[in-house]
Amino acid sequence: MPELPEVETVMRGLLPVMVGNKIRTVKLHRKDLRIPFPLKMQEKLKNIEITALTRRAKYILVHFKDGKILAIHLGMSGRVLIVPPEDKYDLQKHDHMVIGFHDGAKVIYNDPRRFGMIFILNDDELETHKAFAHLGPEPLGNNFSSSYLKETLKNKKTSIKQALLDQRVVVGVGNIYACEALFMAGISPEMIAGDLKGKKAQLLVECIRDVLTRAIEAGGSTLKDFAHADGELGYFQHSFSVYNREKQACQGCNCDIDKTGGVQRITQSGRSTFYCPKKQK
Ligand SMILES: [Zn+2]
Repeated sequence: MPELPEVETVMRGLLPVMVGNKIRTVKLHRKDLRIPFPLKMQEKLKNIEITALTRRAKYILVHFKDGKILAIHLGMSGRVLIVPPEDKYDLQKHDHMVIGFHDGAKVIYNDPRRFGMIFILNDDELETHKAFAHLGPEPLGNNFSSSYLKETLKNKKTSIKQALLDQRVVVGVGNIYACEALFMAGISPEMIAGDLKGKKAQLLVECIRDVLTRAIEAGGSTLKDFAHADGELGYFQHSFSVYNREKQACQGCNCDIDKTGGVQRITQSGRSTFYCPKKQK
């Protein structure tokens, strides 16, 4: 499933193709993904200059000069392909949307499981639209601070791991990066969220920013090879310290695997949590 760093990478990959360009055609090969495609999409979006691309949580937002925004969510298995102006492209299975631009480039949305979402809103609806109204701050934004986190988690009886996955608390951290950030901060995933205090809160905020920033940088380096790749954006190899490493040695930790049994896996709210019982107290 694409997490925030992948979505950010896809957004950055689309920037040079889309900004300043105009849509010429929108071809849809089915009526819906998780929700129906917007009605009359081509009529609504064609011939209007794209002024910017941004990201909110795991939504890519394509801003048009007239104030409209095309929101793209990759769901569980959404992929975006760029076809340069001079290239021919044969439609693949699960290519549900093909956007053709004035310069001849194409952007293709492919999604085997179809949990993705594509919809149009106006830029004055970004705070109030039902997809965005409940969302907490961006983990890499200025509003996500240790004082914010302590205040928000005060009196919360859930575990810190579950709290980090709550999109009202902070958006886009996701299961993988919650595990990695808690490991890096040396905080037990089972700690009561309301007990997060003082330096630990500051450290956790820093570690969340750090794991996400490093993953975005890894994604960015895949974009450099983009010209040699198959035009597909957003999926890249990660190396994790604890995630998906049950019973293996934790990366960057000096614990003795013979004594700890390596990285432990527990289930919290139906999601696997990976952690080091020595480092994370
Ligand atoms: Zn360890």
